[in-house]
Amino acid sequence: MTGNLTVLVTGASRGIGRAVALRIARDGFDVVVHCRSRIEEAQAVAAEIQALGRKARVLAFDVADRDTARATLEADIEAHGAYYGVVCNAGIARDGAFPAMTAEDWDAVVHTNLDSFYNVLHPVVMPMVRRRKPGRIVTLSSVSGLVGNRGQTNYSAAKAGIIGATKALALELASRAITVNCVAPGLIETDMINEEIVDHALKLIPAGRLGQPEEVAATVAFLLSEPAGYITRQVISVNGGMV
Ligand code: NAD
Repeated sequence: MTGNLTVLVTGASRGIGRAVALRIARDGFDVVVHCRSRIEEAQAVAAEIQALGRKARVLAFDVADRDTARATLEADIEAHGAYYGVVCNAGIARDGAFPAMTAEDWDAVVHTNLDSFYNVLHPVVMPMVRRRKPGRIVTLSSVSGLVGNRGQTNYSAAKAGIIGATKALALELASRAITVNCVAPGLIETDMINEEIVDHALKLIPAGRLGQPEEVAATVAFLLSEPAGYITRQVISVNGGMV
């Protein structure tokens, strides 16, 4: 990949987002390393990318904060130009059986995982269209969004919503050569995973192990690549055969 193409990766300070940022830098992209508040961790990721010979800069904002997201992204695009690609990766889980789920846990998960689709993509899509060149958007759903998961009504709802939004936006952008696809991981070994569920969860994974962030990053990187230009409106699940 050549020509200084820039990809924004949200939630890139750790976990899957960090793995995506590093992988796509190796593939030749410049990267906007987004984080919420862990700026030092994001700066460390940016430094690793720079050591690979690519450009990297850090952007910090809460993806659930619509106004700050818009202001920050518009200023970044004004200063550096429209993105080639965006990976909407930032997300949280706040698990609990539905009768005990607080409104705060419901709202936090829906705002962070689903409203962020609008908050992040709305300011960046029209500048991508105006580039008049191919572009790529990849969203992160989950097996929970495909089939639901006990104790995750909030997360399953938000992640199912991401799939619907992804497919709809893919239809709107297909004629502009901007692909929009979704990656739905199974259980991946990151800070998001609750140790208590791992033993039980392993029984549900035919591969018999958790996935690694780099294994999700490989699929995201493929969808961002030039040869993937005829793949759009798809969901690819990386789950060790779980679903
Ligand atoms: P993680 O907790 O390791 O990383 C999440 C990242 O998102 C962090 O960088 C965090 O700072 C950022 N983030 C969270 N809330 C934010 C906010 N309000 N504003 C800005 N940034 C915010 O989790 P992960 O496992 O790397 O998850 C990455 C994505 O993959 C998430 O969307 C998650 O739902 C999805 N996913 C993960 C798994 C898994 O098993 N780990 C499974 C399915 C889907």
